Amino acid sequence: MKRRVRRPSSANKYSRSAFDKRRRDPKLGPVMNEHTAISAAGTPASSPGRARLEFPGFFDLQVNGFAGVDFNNPLVSSEQVQHAIAAMRGTGVTRLLPTLITSTFENFARCARTLARIQDPAIAGIHMEGPYIAEADGPRGAHPRPHVRAAALDDFQRRQEAAEGRIMLVTLAPEVDGAIPLIEHLVTAGIRVAIGHTAAAPQQIRDAIRAGATLSTHLGNGCAGVLPRHPNFIWEQLAADELMTSLIVDGHHLPPATVKTMIRAKTTARTILVTDAVAAAGQPPGVYEMGGTKVTLSADGQVRDPVGWWLAGSALTMDQAVANTVKFTGLPVAEVLPMASTQPAEYMGMKPSGRVIAEWDAAAGCLRIIQTLDGSNEVKESLAGW
Ligand SMILES: [Zn+2]
Repeated sequence: MKRRVRRPSSANKYSRSAFDKRRRDPKLGPVMNEHTAISAAGTPASSPGRARLEFPGFFDLQVNGFAGVDFNNPLVSSEQVQHAIAAMRGTGVTRLLPTLITSTFENFARCARTLARIQDPAIAGIHMEGPYIAEADGPRGAHPRPHVRAAALDDFQRRQEAAEGRIMLVTLAPEVDGAIPLIEHLVTAGIRVAIGHTAAAPQQIRDAIRAGATLSTHLGNGCAGVLPRHPNFIWEQLAADELMTSLIVDGHHLPPATVKTMIRAKTTARTILVTDAVAAAGQPPGVYEMGGTKVTLSADGQVRDPVGWWLAGSALTMDQAVANTVKFTGLPVAEVLPMASTQPAEYMGMKPSGRVIAEWDAAAGCLRIIQTLDGSNEVKESLAGW
């Protein structure tokens, strides 16, 4: 039997009371919007505790590379990027924003040009993360310090020109010089602005929101290891209903209790799962490149910079992110899937692309992707074993 649960059209998706009501009454099941249509596929479960699911393709807003390919390598070829996208389809991803981090203008421009010229609908645009971020160790994360700089409209315009207008999302720190006027300009131009890699004072977070910022990038990461207990910019962003938040749920970037608490504070409707994957994702442990820096993937799945101080992106895949989120929060899988599919699409003002058929194994806490159907309905078999 096909079961579809839809959100009543009158419900406010940001409503805290709707979220709480759902918590109290499991019979209400997951709350969906008209795009979501996550359904139990018609075939019976293959064994107890297993369910066939069909849902819109995942949309990953933050991908630095995948399957051995580094999008931040200025020599990256369109064929290599296509290889990475094909491997990502095996994990249920049908759309992504390749993410370019802080680097020289020349490197950024070469990578951006390559990405912009690839005719693949899976590439929904480019996420520019940096260089307008906090310079200090900690908030800067693995971004190279020499290329961090103040925000300036002319610098952004040069980058956007190199990217042939494909920059759709910019992550910046609101406290850097020039950030607030740049946010205003970007939002007017239809570009989404996210707060990240920041050491902002709470008032600077509020200023960024007033200027039009609408997302927190990987909240709880890209910040100092020690903060004033309160107030601080994490509380300020958690409390801001104007901000969606992205989270890296690989079990390394955030502890399970932090994931659960952040999703409860933001609500499921304001949470977006991202992988922040680098070339090491989908690969065995070893040494990989990220924008000219060597990063190491260890056997436990952590990707670190050469010194080992900072996490340098992740080896996370989106199917794992969904499974981890179910495990860490106790939410039903059908309520977690929109955080990886419809909600990032809606945030970018787009429709989800393609469909995914998968099996949810409750006992193993595992989402197995069976088929990914892309936007043209061409069936792509799951690339098991890549
Ligand atoms: Zn980051």
